[in-house]
Amino acid sequence: MTDIKTLSLSELKYFLKNNNEKEFRAKQIYQWIWQKNAQNFDEMTNLSKELRDKLMSEYKINPIKVLNGVHSSIDNSRKFAFYTYDNLLIEGVLIPDNKRVTACISTQVGCPLRCKFCATGTLGLKRNLSVAEIYEQVFILNQKSEKYYNRKLTNIVVMGMGEPLLNLDNTLKAIDFMTDKAGLAMSPQRITLSTSGLVKQLKELSDKNPKFNLAISLHTAINSKRSEIMPINIKNPLPELIDVLKYYYKKTKNRITFEYLLIGGLTDLPEDAKALAEFCKNFPSKINLIEFNPVAHIDYKKSKKQDAEKFYEFIKSKNIVVTIRKSKGADIDAACGQLALKEKSKIKNINHN
Ligand code: SAH
Ligand code: SF4
Repeated sequence: MTDIKTLSLSELKYFLKNNNEKEFRAKQIYQWIWQKNAQNFDEMTNLSKELRDKLMSEYKINPIKVLNGVHSSIDNSRKFAFYTYDNLLIEGVLIPDNKRVTACISTQVGCPLRCKFCATGTLGLKRNLSVAEIYEQVFILNQKSEKYYNRKLTNIVVMGMGEPLLNLDNTLKAIDFMTDKAGLAMSPQRITLSTSGLVKQLKELSDKNPKFNLAISLHTAINSKRSEIMPINIKNPLPELIDVLKYYYKKTKNRITFEYLLIGGLTDLPEDAKALAEFCKNFPSKINLIEFNPVAHIDYKKSKKQDAEKFYEFIKSKNIVVTIRKSKGADIDAACGQLALKEKSKIKNINHN
């Protein structure tokens, strides 16, 4: 049976017409699904019983289930485990600070790209998430934000599990629902999509002139080193990435953010800082330096404090916008995919909502 959330508004209208129902019902159904996150057709109380039964006989609703979050005592962030209808585990994180509450959401179960520093990468890819599964994480995290922080979500980062550009159509459609008045009506300027830098898809994305922010997981500006830690760099080498990002900038005029993991003795050396400063001359850039979060069975370590500081000062001295931050929720393994590596039994011990 088809999940009703895969239907466009016009497909819904077509279904209604074929069933001798009024077209305006399509909007009502859409509101139930996308604005109220209805979990079954009986909730749709402004539809006749007859129409609800018709819908039920043709369609299903596949909700994702959320478990109560794990709380970080370091930075007050909260990580949630979501289960898809086919019982796969994905993760979402809420990160509060003074002015904002940011939700970090996933686009795939696992990831096929196998970056050497990343826990999600060790899982491989299970499957792409649907439009509704991506969107619903935001919907649910918005409710959790109100519950735990008394505020609505202000920002979204597509930086959880998976490579969004390998699930581009669904990710873009889900973002449309997040920004659409018929959905959550969030400003696209408060949404950031992070990618490992797939050249072909970045070209495609540039041509759509997106209004949200783009972040690239760069991690090193030395080509050979990048191929070593991020296998996708072999087919998407830095010179090609630079070209497509110039194109992106020409199209969108949006400054690009670069995520840079400081891995001790590997990406935090003076030669790395120099290469990064050179790289930033290509387009207006902002650098986010991120502390590496240790992962079981991965042999990298975080930078020493003084090395991280030196790196930061060097980049700053070149008049590049740069921030340095700790990995969020370090005590609850909130970095990329680490939750999914934990034994499921442990997660199941957390109470169901
Ligand atoms: N696949 C996309 C989107 C996922 S974002 C991408 O890579 O951009 C996940 C972010 O978490 C990336 O910036 C990634 O580099 C970062 N990350 C992965 N492993 C990490 C670790 N061990 N410590 C801190 N950050 C990590
Ligand atoms: Fe995939 Fe991103 Fe992790 Fe690399 S860093 S394995 S692209 S999720």
